[in-house]
Order: sequence, then C-alpha cells, then structure tokens
Amino acid sequence: MIKKIAILTSGGDAPGMNAAIRAAAKTAMAKGMKVYGVQRGYMGMLNDEIFPMDGGYVSGIIDRGGTRLLTARCLEFKDPKFRAIAAQNLKKRGIEGLIVIGGDGSYRGADLLSKEHDIKVVGIPGTIDNDIKGTDYTIGFDTCLNTILDAISKIRDTATSHERTVLVEVMGRHAGDLALQACIAGGGDGLLIPEMENPIELLAFQIRERRKQGKLHDIVLVAEGVGKAQDIEVELSKRLNTEVRTVVLGHIQRGGTPSGFDRVLATRMGAKAVELLEEGEGGVMVGIENNKIITHPISFAWDGTRNYDFRPDYDLALLLAK
Ligand code: ADP
Repeated sequence: MIKKIAILTSGGDAPGMNAAIRAAAKTAMAKGMKVYGVQRGYMGMLNDEIFPMDGGYVSGIIDRGGTRLLTARCLEFKDPKFRAIAAQNLKKRGIEGLIVIGGDGSYRGADLLSKEHDIKVVGIPGTIDNDIKGTDYTIGFDTCLNTILDAISKIRDTATSHERTVLVEVMGRHAGDLALQACIAGGGDGLLIPEMENPIELLAFQIRERRKQGKLHDIVLVAEGVGKAQDIEVELSKRLNTEVRTVVLGHIQRGGTPSGFDRVLATRMGAKAVELLEEGEGGVMVGIENNKIITHPISFAWDGTRNYDFRPDYDLALLLAK
C-alpha cells in the first residue's frame, strides 16, 4: 500500500481548493498515510518546496477561498528534463502518490508525470471555468457563478436607473458555462459565448425589439473567449446608435468564500482521490457525473467533446432574454 502521498494545487486558483486539500489530507491521515504538501504547484515540486503536513495545517481552511498551498505556473514543467528533477524530489522522500488539484493544463503535466515516472497521480478538477471534460462540475464553478450573480444584481440597479445596455464580461476563455448559467440565473438579456456564433447584428436587433416592448435596460453576458468586451461595446454602440457600457468583472470572480456546493464537491473528490491511491490507481482524474463521484483516465479530460450539451440551456437563455 502507498504510505506517503503529496498534494499540490496548480494553475488558476479556485474557491474550494482548500476544502479539497483538507479532505484529501485528513482522509489520508485517517488511513495512516504520511502526507506532504507541495507549495506553488509544479514550480515548488521542481524547487523542492515539499514539506510534511500535519492536521493543524488543514485546520480552519474549509471556508477560505484561494489555496493555502499557493499556486503558480511553471513553463519548465513542459520539458521532460525538469519533470524528471521534480519527480526525483518526491521519490527521494519515498512519496509514491500525488494529488494534483487544478485545471486542464495541470492535468497535462499530471498525465506526463504518471506516464514517465513511477508516481501514481490523481487529478482533481479545480477551476472556476468548468471547462474539464469528464466531470459535470469543477470545484469553484458554483461559487464563481454566485459571485457573478451578485454583481449582476448590483449592475442591474444602475442599468435600470439610467436605462442602459451593459455588457458584463465574465471569465471563460474556452467555455461559456459561466456566462450561460449566469444569463439563465441572473435573468440576462443577451448572451455571447465561444461555443456559438455571436453576430452582433442579431444582438442589436434583439435589444431594439426589447426596447420597443418597453424594456428599459439590458444586461448582456459576454464570455471572455468571445473577444474583448470593449471592442464588442464599440460595435454594438454603432448599431444601436446609443451609448453602451462594459463591466469586466475580472479577478473578483476567483475569490471569496466557497459555496456549500463547492465545499461538498471538493470534500467528496479529495476523499475519493486518496481512496484511489490506496487502491494503487494512478493516471486518473476524479469527476462528478449524475451526482456520483466517478473516475476517468486523465487524458479523457481533453479527448473529444465535453458532456455538457449547451444547446438546450442556450436556447432557454435566449428565449427568456426576449
Ligand atoms: P490550469 O491548470 O488552470 O489549466 P495552466 O494551463 O496554466 O492552468 O497549467 C498549469 C501548469 O500545468 C503550467 O504552469 C505547467 O506547469 C503545467 N502544464 C500545462 N500544460 C502542460 C503541458 N502540456 N505539459 C506539461 N505541463 C503542463
């Protein structure tokens, strides 16, 4: 049985990562494993920032956003030479299992590490974007969605008072989940996401129609992957022949207290990752499908199209935006 495991967080931080660290560490400790923390993701693994973790380290962090283990980006990790050095830093301590909490980039590193070196790696999907195939939800998505909804309510107050059209740019370079679900849950009046064609002329037409019906304001959700909201603002203003405002929500979307959903999800995933290592599994990711914690080979994450069928939700969002 694996006796020593390490945990790291990598790539963009997401609320709920701490809950996953805590669950993995406490589960492993309960099973008699020795647990190590790696600071600053793969960068810290390469620089030997690896320390023995005790129960106190994960105490009082379940409700904290960000990641106590810190996170970083590490371009060197794309080079096998540096991955070998990083792997050696685990091996010299007798660490045989590694839990990587991060997004799809982190998964690529995890996959290579488990294939090239004799280390069992389990990936936990931690990213606000929800853009990982093989799981219905990623840790942090729900919290981020609620942060956006809170912002929409505030923006709507001023948009209504001034009878304005406001573009709200949210995160999501490759996936429109945040914009789409925020549009549905926030009563948005328009939606631009990278998965769909987004003719500005059509958006302008819809806004004009809404205004004819007496609607006084418009909140349009724009996923960052569609293009710069400021550029869209210029295009839309020209077509509407009126001023349009843009609000880029930016990094406030990453922070904050994780929602109950994200804490439970992270806890279930963290515990499952340890059970997998205990069973000698490696090169796998955990996910949630139909409310069950499941596993896939890590490479499943970028192999083909995602489970999420956008079309019905997209059609619903546009119908309700009218
Ligand atoms: P995320 O995990 O949130 O998608 P990144 O895409 O920045 O974030 O990836 C995080 C880290 O994962 C990178 O800094 C790098 O260390 C590692 N990584 C990303 N892509 C690869 C790759 N193709 N091969 C090896 N390591 C990678």
